[in-house]
Amino acid sequence: MPCTRPTTLQPDEPYLDTAEINGIAWKSPSQAFINAGWNTIENIDALPMPAYDLAKWERYAPSAHRDLGRPFLPLITARGCPNSCSYCVVHGRYRLHSIEYIDKLLRASTEMYDAAIRNIIVWDDTFTVPEGRCNRLAELFFQYGAGYTINTSTWFWSREQARILKDSGCEVVFFGVESCDPDVLKNFGRRTTPREIEKAFRIARDCEILTVGSVMVGTPYDTRETIERNVNYLIENIQPDLAFFSHFAATPGSACYRECVIKGVVPPYRDWLSRTDSEFCLTPPPYTPSANRGLSKNEIDELVNWAYRRFYTQTRMEMLYELSKGRSFLKGAISRIERAI
Ligand code: SF4
Repeated sequence: MPCTRPTTLQPDEPYLDTAEINGIAWKSPSQAFINAGWNTIENIDALPMPAYDLAKWERYAPSAHRDLGRPFLPLITARGCPNSCSYCVVHGRYRLHSIEYIDKLLRASTEMYDAAIRNIIVWDDTFTVPEGRCNRLAELFFQYGAGYTINTSTWFWSREQARILKDSGCEVVFFGVESCDPDVLKNFGRRTTPREIEKAFRIARDCEILTVGSVMVGTPYDTRETIERNVNYLIENIQPDLAFFSHFAATPGSACYRECVIKGVVPPYRDWLSRTDSEFCLTPPPYTPSANRGLSKNEIDELVNWAYRRFYTQTRMEMLYELSKGRSFLKGAISRIERAI
């Protein structure tokens, strides 16, 4: 049965029973459960303000490449995504908070900290859409005097907008590159091309916004050659300041997952739930050799490690040291990279 109200804890409710929370799957010691789905909340301004005062903020830190200073505020200004990449489950109705709601939220968090927020981490997947609203939010962040970091798609990014964002305090843009292979991009329904990705990064660089690119390794359409080509293209043409390489997982609920199940490339989700070994549950099975054109789990692991080593060369690290001179937050990111490579 669909949920008839938002599953948010009301002030007079001490807790919600796991079985009553719609839209989740969970396990008791002996059994797996998938609860009923939920109804999309159309007016997200109707959601109560986050109870920031209940969080123990001193225990948290932003990701190193988003750490522009403290106090910081993780912020979601929209739900859903206007795109529909087939491996993703975020898309669906794209719903936006009003500027007034975000203003109220910023005021509430400033009061809670008793200090001006110095760093806003915007977690929206496509912050730059629609452009007019994005510009109004940029203006709002500027009024609060906060630096901020965003995520968006390379095809929702123009030179004019990048300048406006930079002038209002945007320091970092995170682009999901995912693949530089035209066929892989097309198969996933990504509305972009390698050239367009390249251009988006160039614009950000020209506007002195730090760029982060993420790449998926081992998709159902990948071969060893496409993975190696991707990484080389990223390094030679796209040239992000920082890069992440992640193992691909066919996420339950996505079109790609359904396709993989039909082809017998991954087991249905209920089968995953009935497994008890923790490694299997934590790393869902993108590793089936047939899912990756003959690449085994170990080979994909090695390719991910190779990608990191290939990207973070001595020369790139030197460029990062140079870049970090004017940006203290980058020092944290660099020391984490140094530990990892
Ligand atoms: S752009 Fe990102 S969030 Fe949006 S559908 Fe594609 S992968 Fe998902």
